[in-house]
Amino acid sequence: MEKKEKYQVLLYYHYVDLEDPEGYANEHLKFCKELGLKGRILIAHEGINGTVSGTVEQTNTYMETMHNDPRFKDMVFKVDEADGHAFKKMHVRPRPELVTLRLEEDINPRETTGKYLSPQEFYEAMRDENTVVLDARNDYEYELGHFRGAIRPDIETFRELPKWVEENKDKLEGKKVLTYCTGGIRCEKFSGWLVKQGFEDVGQLHGGIVTYGKDPEVQGELWDGQLYVFDERISVPVNRKEHVVVGKDYFDGEPCERYVNCANPECNRQMLCSEENEHKYMRGCSHECRTHPRNLYIAEHNLTEEEIQARLDRIAEEDGVTQE
Ligand SMILES: [Zn+2]
Repeated sequence: MEKKEKYQVLLYYHYVDLEDPEGYANEHLKFCKELGLKGRILIAHEGINGTVSGTVEQTNTYMETMHNDPRFKDMVFKVDEADGHAFKKMHVRPRPELVTLRLEEDINPRETTGKYLSPQEFYEAMRDENTVVLDARNDYEYELGHFRGAIRPDIETFRELPKWVEENKDKLEGKKVLTYCTGGIRCEKFSGWLVKQGFEDVGQLHGGIVTYGKDPEVQGELWDGQLYVFDERISVPVNRKEHVVVGKDYFDGEPCERYVNCANPECNRQMLCSEENEHKYMRGCSHECRTHPRNLYIAEHNLTEEEIQARLDRIAEEDGVTQE
């Protein structure tokens, strides 16, 4: 019998000056492909941000090689065990910045950033009632899971943050402000921005939620739901003490942690949705998407015109949806 090989998924970033991001990206892509890794890596003048998968041997060789490069000798890798690759291809792309925050004035986290808190310190700070916790991620990530009581600023881009802060002053004034994100990289600038705005007591979760979930002391406590990840696994558990579901089905609001993309390839909206509702709604987020000529669900299931009409009729009947 074939012995199943063990894989690992790595998540990492490092702020360091890189002189020729384009040249380095090409060289690094070649190196990753030779190793047999798959994943996504961004290279910028300000550093590297990546997530890759491979066998234990391949990924260990990668980490060792990176640590032998003086520029990356202190880079921290978050390592997850896996059954196989978590990506289909290997990309290394040069970018103007590692995380797109669209700040009017860029923040250099090596100069200005919030205080780094270990999982234990973050846990204790969260339990202090004089603390407000801000989620630095996107809405679809927050919806699947977040720290209990955390606020996600309801904004599209960071440019709207000053206004949001202004409108929510009562929540923030005189408080300790904590920020967190998946692996920590978004908070480097997010917390730095808050410091620059004059908030005096700003802390960020060092190593992000991924590290928090692995910490033997806190074991992910006070995290509700799952963690959204940017690879084929889609979500991973965090809280090893209890599991509270916070995700809600897009269609009926029932507790749900299953992510799908809208079957209309032009929409592609991410939504939480049970298997039952995926079939009922032909994985379309709206009537328009359900009846879109390129609906992928309809193609995957070879639905006939009659079958499509029968589903639309059922939706209209059960949900009372008026169809224009
Ligand atoms: Zn849609």
